[in-house]
Amino acid sequence: MNEQQRTGAILAIGDELILGQKTDTNSAWIADRMTQRSVRIVEHATVDDDEALIARTMRRLAEAADVLVCTGGLGPTADDLARRALALAMGDELVEDKGSVAQIRSWFAGRGREMPEANRVQALRPSRGRSLPNPNGTAPGLAGRIEIDGRGCEVFCLPGPPREMRPMFEADVETALTVEGGRVVRTRMLHTFGLGESEIARRLGELMDRDRDPLVGTTATQGVVTCRVRSQGRSSEAEALRALDDTERLVRERLGGVVFARDGEAEAPLESAVLGLLRSRGERVVVAESCTGGMLGERLTRLPGSSDVFAGGWLTYSNEMKQAQLGVPERVLSEFGAVSEPVALAMARGALAGARGAGGADHALAITGVAGPGGGSEDKPVGSVWIARASGDGTNDARLFRFGGGRGAIRQWSAVTALGMLRLHLDAAPTPLLGQVEPPQDD
Ligand code: ATP
Repeated sequence: MNEQQRTGAILAIGDELILGQKTDTNSAWIADRMTQRSVRIVEHATVDDDEALIARTMRRLAEAADVLVCTGGLGPTADDLARRALALAMGDELVEDKGSVAQIRSWFAGRGREMPEANRVQALRPSRGRSLPNPNGTAPGLAGRIEIDGRGCEVFCLPGPPREMRPMFEADVETALTVEGGRVVRTRMLHTFGLGESEIARRLGELMDRDRDPLVGTTATQGVVTCRVRSQGRSSEAEALRALDDTERLVRERLGGVVFARDGEAEAPLESAVLGLLRSRGERVVVAESCTGGMLGERLTRLPGSSDVFAGGWLTYSNEMKQAQLGVPERVLSEFGAVSEPVALAMARGALAGARGAGGADHALAITGVAGPGGGSEDKPVGSVWIARASGDGTNDARLFRFGGGRGAIRQWSAVTALGMLRLHLDAAPTPLLGQVEPPQDD
């Protein structure tokens, strides 16, 4: 399908990655950048500081890819083996690069120091390769070509530290990736909240077939299911964007109002959407939390700029605090119990009232539930959580949820679902909320 599209592979080198002491963020960053440049990534690999293994892996990846980007292993110490491995994989020998020696020397001179002899090794490069300047550290990068059976793969070795690697990638790799006549890869993310991943997959049906183009895949992160749409077979940007638009329309038709954002903030999309909605309306929210112990406030303050729309809140774990701080009547607590609709609503209304003397708020969210592992009962098993919203326009909403997965998951779900409830109200989106159950009817 994509004969003309370039293929890429990524190799992360280092003991600390293999041992799990350091998370490999470089590969994800590089994969994203290469994908944006229409390179189809075929493999990520991670290897130990072992010269023969690095060289073998470079050759294996070079067989499958047109471009190979490696990171790490360019330091001055004996365990930094990327240079030698690259020369081995290219069937070449190392030579000293005079320009690099001068550059490393001046890097040290700029800090009032002499270049230690050990750093001289960093100026070595394969004789048929090139050195890539590193303005942010001592290790120059390397570029070379591995030939296998008459077919070549461009190889780049970049330093491990992200603040050195990223500028070098942008200066020396990205420019080399642009090709004429290739296929354009464009991606789009559609974030959803309210349906489980399997229900989303059921509704999307054949849109998720692996040989479809654009291809649709899903990933679930803390309650948010993101549909990733990728167009990779079109030959122009305009065609690729049109194909994405068509698929996005189909996805939205099948999922309805659960889609709350497109692209945007990848780390905290629901928080970002809620903050954006509040900001566009010039409104503020307060929170009253029991079993989540502040997790909702934490989510609302994850992104910079939250102070425009998040006023603060109350953390009322005990019944006494619910009474004293939020004015929840003692009678309501004893009649219905702390985990009940009247208490959740009284907490939300109490928070809204409490904010009046402190700059005011337009919405309040309250959470009260049984996070477990103890404290459950037949009527209110572990995982039962009431979430309420009260707003300055006099409307309110309280819903009972039954979350599973242990204390941590129940608390996470409670916080994220409270955000989901506020978004429902702000966006006027008629969507389901995962975990919601009908409260038991009184006889
Ligand atoms: P230096 O010249 O600083 O020694 P290097 O190319 O030798 O650079 P490494 O020694 O392999 O790089 O790694 C240096 C540091 O870079 C690591 O301790 C780690 O903090 C970071 N690093 C290395 N590889 C990765 C990676 N794949 N993802 C994120 N960080 C990484």
